[in-house]
Amino acid sequence: MNERYFGLTDERGRYQRLGLARNDTEAEQFLQAGFIEIAKDVYDRLVEFVQSIDINGLDLFLSALTLLGALRTRQANVRRLQDLVQNREAFTRAGQAFRTEATRLAEQLANRTITLDEWYQGMAQRIRQNQLSARIAGVGTNNLSQADLQAVQAKTESELRYLQRFRTELQAQLDAGQELNPNAIGARARQYAGASAEQFEIGIQEALGMPLLPVQPGVRTECMTNCKCAWRIVELNGAGNWDCFWDRNATDSCETCIARERTFNPLRIRQGIIQPFVVQGRIYA
Ligand SMILES: [Zn+2]
Repeated sequence: MNERYFGLTDERGRYQRLGLARNDTEAEQFLQAGFIEIAKDVYDRLVEFVQSIDINGLDLFLSALTLLGALRTRQANVRRLQDLVQNREAFTRAGQAFRTEATRLAEQLANRTITLDEWYQGMAQRIRQNQLSARIAGVGTNNLSQADLQAVQAKTESELRYLQRFRTELQAQLDAGQELNPNAIGARARQYAGASAEQFEIGIQEALGMPLLPVQPGVRTECMTNCKCAWRIVELNGAGNWDCFWDRNATDSCETCIARERTFNPLRIRQGIIQPFVVQGRIYA
C-alpha cells in the first residue's frame, strides 16, 4: 500500500497541518479538507523540524506543536500511556524558571531598561511556555494531543487577559509619572507561574482516561496560585478504577486545601465513574 503525504498551509504558505494517507479514501478526505499533496521528503523534513524544536526558545512553538499534535492524532488515536511521564520535577523546574524570569523582567521594567511593551511581550511568551511545559511534564511529548494543545492555548489566552489588565494598570502609573516598584511587580508577576498546575494535573487525568476530578490544585483554593498540593493517583486492578488522594503540601494550610485533603482521602473512581463523596469542610473558595 502506498502512503501519500499531505500538507495544509496558511495564507503565507507555512505548513499548519500534516497528513498521512494510507489509502485512497483517506487521501480524498485530505484533499477535500484543502490539503495539498506533498513529497515524502518534504513531509519527513517537516516532521523532523517539529521534533527538533526547542520549546524554550521559540515564539512559534505553539503553531509548530499544533502541527505535531495533528500529526500524532492522525497517526495514533490512542495515547501511549506507558510513556505518561508525570514528571513533577520538570514541572517544578519550569515554574522556578518562570519565577526567575518574571523577577528579572520586573526589575528591567522598573529601571527602564525595557519598555512596558517589551515587558508584556516577555511575560506573555513565558506564560505560554510555562503552560505548555507543565502539560508536557504531565503527559510527555509523545502523548501530547490536539486536545492538550487546545487546552493549553485556552488557558494561556485567559492568563493573557489578566496580564493585559496588569499592563493597563502599569501604564496608568507611568502616565501619572510614578516610579514603578520592582518588588511589587515581581511578586504579582510570579503568581502566573502557579497557574500552570492545572495543566499538569488535568493533562494527566485526561491522558489516563479518567473523568475530570472535581477540584484541581490552585483552582478555587484560598491559596490560589501558591497552591502546591497535588493529586496522587493510584491505579487499581480492572479498567477505570482509581483511588485519588489530595496530597496537601506541607506549606499549604489554607482552609480549602485542608478540606480537600479530608474529603478526598481517597476519591474513588470505579469503572470510570466518580463515586459519591462526603464533603468535609469548604472545598471551594
Ligand atoms: Zn493547596
